Amino acid sequence: MSDIKKLKENLFYQRKNGRQISTEEVLETANNYCENYKKFLDSAKTEREAVKVAVCLAEEKGFVPFEYGKKYNAGDKVYFNNRGKTIALAVIGKKSAEKGVNITAAHIDSPRLDLKPNPLYEEIELALFKTHYYGGIRKYQWTTIPLSLHGVFALKDGKVLEVCIGEKEDEPKFVINDLLPHLATEQNKRTLAEGVKGEELNVLVGSHPFKSDEGSELVKLNILKLLNEKYGIKEEDFLSAELEMVPAYKACDIGFDRSLVGAYGQDDRVCAYPALTAILDVENPEKTAIAILTDKEEIGSMGNTGLRSDFLRFIIGDIAKMQGADATIALRNSKCLSADVNAGVDPTFQDVSEKRNASLLNYGVVVTKYTGSRGKSGTSDASAEYVAYVRNLLDDAGIIWQTGELGKVDAGGGGTVAQYVADLGIDVIDLGVPVLSMHAPFETTAKLDVYMCYRAMYEFMK
Ligand code: MN
Ligand code: MN
Repeated sequence: MSDIKKLKENLFYQRKNGRQISTEEVLETANNYCENYKKFLDSAKTEREAVKVAVCLAEEKGFVPFEYGKKYNAGDKVYFNNRGKTIALAVIGKKSAEKGVNITAAHIDSPRLDLKPNPLYEEIELALFKTHYYGGIRKYQWTTIPLSLHGVFALKDGKVLEVCIGEKEDEPKFVINDLLPHLATEQNKRTLAEGVKGEELNVLVGSHPFKSDEGSELVKLNILKLLNEKYGIKEEDFLSAELEMVPAYKACDIGFDRSLVGAYGQDDRVCAYPALTAILDVENPEKTAIAILTDKEEIGSMGNTGLRSDFLRFIIGDIAKMQGADATIALRNSKCLSADVNAGVDPTFQDVSEKRNASLLNYGVVVTKYTGSRGKSGTSDASAEYVAYVRNLLDDAGIIWQTGELGKVDAGGGGTVAQYVADLGIDVIDLGVPVLSMHAPFETTAKLDVYMCYRAMYEFMK
């Protein structure tokens, strides 16, 4: 090797394609890991379903619901279920919580279409649902794809009825229709953002009229009759329901080489699944390990199931109190990986990214020092010291990783839960998986990156 080449090798920082530098064994492990990841995606399309699956998997591994006032010892596994929409799983450490706890946080809500409180109506003898979109979506992407309905009716007597229609092969699906190109001359003049408007995201749910010579709204009446037979509900019960329309298709491999995963809801279940499976694998950690799968990130982490609430602070407090430790000191010494997706460079739309600092598919898990927009506004910006800590952790474990910035300066931006964790005085940095078509009804990730995300979570909490 020439002197210059040696000097370059020594001094330059070079990112490498993770598939190039991984052994066949690692690639095979990543493939196998993603087989279960795809199953998780199919069974957890909403935050409520994700919590259910998490509870089920956790209980199999010996996790029990945390009981206030009960004493737990090192190695014990507990979970905190917040209203069935956010869950925190903890493995109690050998050291006191005052030495700090290691937290991974990911979100389990995804962009979707929520039904309005009064959703059902009839027009020209077709029945439809009015929706209000949840999270940042490009509305035109949600038309002419099969949709399924998930959620609950909460009844006045306290009963909660679960709904899931359109996931099984033989079940009906739903759809939002769009104009034919032949008659779209006027619509085509709209900007892409306005191409389909919020109030045009109306879901077709039926067309068969109740057989009668009299009365109007007979299609709507027939739909309500069917719902009444199946669930015992009336139209008024929609008022206290949480019903979500999501894409009805299943997760699948993408590409001849099957190196990618395509699915709905990978933001942020592509980080939630690694956080969940990592905490399930943690045994007898030095410091208490906590994985929190949170709701409401897509709408600003608001609400009592979002990470802006005191839920995380209180559970760390509960664990500290149980040990006779001080909750404030525990928070001050804690560390967190805020696990969320980053925008991978899209080969067709490269100009929105700054290539030296954007994340690439297959280059491993992405560490994002800061998010935000317009001059880092709204980011917690991790300290150099904490980045160094994470660098060392990942390199020592042989984890393939890269840095990532969400888009060019002034191209846009985004935020995660990191800032709300930072508000607690905890050291926090974003770490996650690069995604293509983020927030679309069908997002793409690379299998190796998903697996590296799991490995990072595990190393951090173990
Ligand atoms: Mn996200
Ligand atoms: Mn998002």
